[in-house]
Amino acid sequence: MRDVVICWFKRDLRVVDHPALARAAALGPVIPLYIVEPGLWQQADASGRHYAFVVECLEALRRDLADLGLALAVRRGEAVGVLETLRRDHGATRLVSHEETGNAWTFARDRRVAAWARAQGVEWTQLPQCGVARRLPGRDGWQRARDGFVRDAPAAVPQGLQPGPFTSTDRMPDAADLGLEDACPQRQKGGRARAERALEGFLQTRGRCYRKAMSSPLAGARACSRLSPHLAFGTISVREAVQAASARQAALTGRRDGWAGSLRSFQSRLAWRDHFIQKLEDEPALEHRCMHPAYEGLRPAVPDRVRLDAWAAGETGLPFVDACMRSLRATGWLNFRMRSMVMAVASYHLWLDWRASGPVLARYFTDYEPGIHWPQVQMQSGTTGINTIRIYNPVKQGGDQDPAGVFTRRWVPELADVPDAYLQAPWRWPRAGCVLGQAYPFPIVDPVAAARAARQAVWAVRGQEGFHDRATALVARHGSRKRRRPGIPAPDRQMRFDF
Ligand SMILES: Cc1cc2nc3c(=O)[nH]c(=O)nc-3n(C[C@H](O)[C@H](O)[C@H](O)COP(=O)(O)OP(=O)(O)OC[C@H]3O[C@@H](n4cnc5c(N)ncnc54)[C@H](O)[C@@H]3O)c2cc1C
Repeated sequence: MRDVVICWFKRDLRVVDHPALARAAALGPVIPLYIVEPGLWQQADASGRHYAFVVECLEALRRDLADLGLALAVRRGEAVGVLETLRRDHGATRLVSHEETGNAWTFARDRRVAAWARAQGVEWTQLPQCGVARRLPGRDGWQRARDGFVRDAPAAVPQGLQPGPFTSTDRMPDAADLGLEDACPQRQKGGRARAERALEGFLQTRGRCYRKAMSSPLAGARACSRLSPHLAFGTISVREAVQAASARQAALTGRRDGWAGSLRSFQSRLAWRDHFIQKLEDEPALEHRCMHPAYEGLRPAVPDRVRLDAWAAGETGLPFVDACMRSLRATGWLNFRMRSMVMAVASYHLWLDWRASGPVLARYFTDYEPGIHWPQVQMQSGTTGINTIRIYNPVKQGGDQDPAGVFTRRWVPELADVPDAYLQAPWRWPRAGCVLGQAYPFPIVDPVAAARAARQAVWAVRGQEGFHDRATALVARHGSRKRRRPGIPAPDRQMRFDF
């Protein structure tokens, strides 16, 4: 009789291209397991919209596993306790999962699981599911290895699986039982079929204008792939997305209608995904500490609550920022340019520490992916020391990205009657008194003066002794080695390119 194997599903809620499931199936009878960990859901970066998305993914996963002859076991509890129960009750001596580049909580939990596995003689195999490498000695050669991984054949869906012994399954707790109250009715929904539809729709139709439209708050919502929550919770693998896009690129060779540039840009973003996650994998402290230590203490550790709350609620009095934040709260998504702007406004104009504002965005994004999120949050806050400092002007961004004010008025209807010329800076409107201080607030800061003060403070740090030596070491550790192709920015230089 072969040993029972637990296949532990985490942020990989699919059966297609699932190296861990394929390995588990080759080892013995399989118990597929998902653990609802209350401790994880109590973290500051967790929200009800993430949980609701996961619940939908698990419903689909349960059906897909049933088609393979397996019954998904859902258990609520702390991972070590749940795994120990399965070991004791079913003699499960092997555990297979994917490597997870998560937040500090999952990092600590994985260490506890590893210690338990060692103590109990359980063999825990962790496999990569994307181009991120564990215990990477250095970034040289990383890109080639990553590109090789995504070109490799996907893991086959195992057939003729031997089910493990019957094990009971817990009811999925309600979000409220886990203390999660945030609902987001307009968010993207989870599940494998929706991931496949998003990819197909993007590659066949929506993606043609991707490159041109991605930065628009209106057109971007349709022109972008919208794969992010699916990639974050693993209903589709990055390798599947890369290979489907490559097949489409091959099919469209020679076309001059926008597809070629759009698909190249899309492939770059998929590569950036792994590039950014690799940073957190290499340095988990990036979730809590400034990448360049010279920026520690620059902003007050205790944030200005009034500013933070106004920003989070979309009530800063800066119309385009408020429109973006309100739209994000309602839909769970924002395009890259708008994410960069709202983060930069929080960090520069409102002078909030990214450790206060970053968790707010993490909770709002349905697609929260720690490995992308924290390095991006730091990059847009100017604390990496290796990126160009980009202070967006929210008034200019509003004019550039929403010239007719459709997006802004949709989300900030209080400004419906403000003429276009004044919409992004209503305080300049001669009739401002009808609206400001009544239906809509005065700006919480003077955006020009606040940006000037922030720029001076951040640049002053760059002049400190030893700053550049440390920055050089950081480039060596985290910087992209990829040479720029014309028109395609290297991932660490995105801001310079997008401006
Ligand atoms: C402050 C900030 C925080 C962010 N936090 C997250 C996050 O938690 N989760 C997340 O998935 N993305 C995050 N991003 C990156 C990016 O904005 C989103 O991936 C993108 O908007 C998702 O929409 P999409 O799937 O339609 O993207 P597309 O443009 O269609 O891109 C396809 C995929 O490529 C990856 N990708 C795209 N842009 C980037 C980028 N700039 N860096 C790294 N990977 C990228 C994502 O996996 C995305 O799903 C953040 C950006 C900023 C500025």
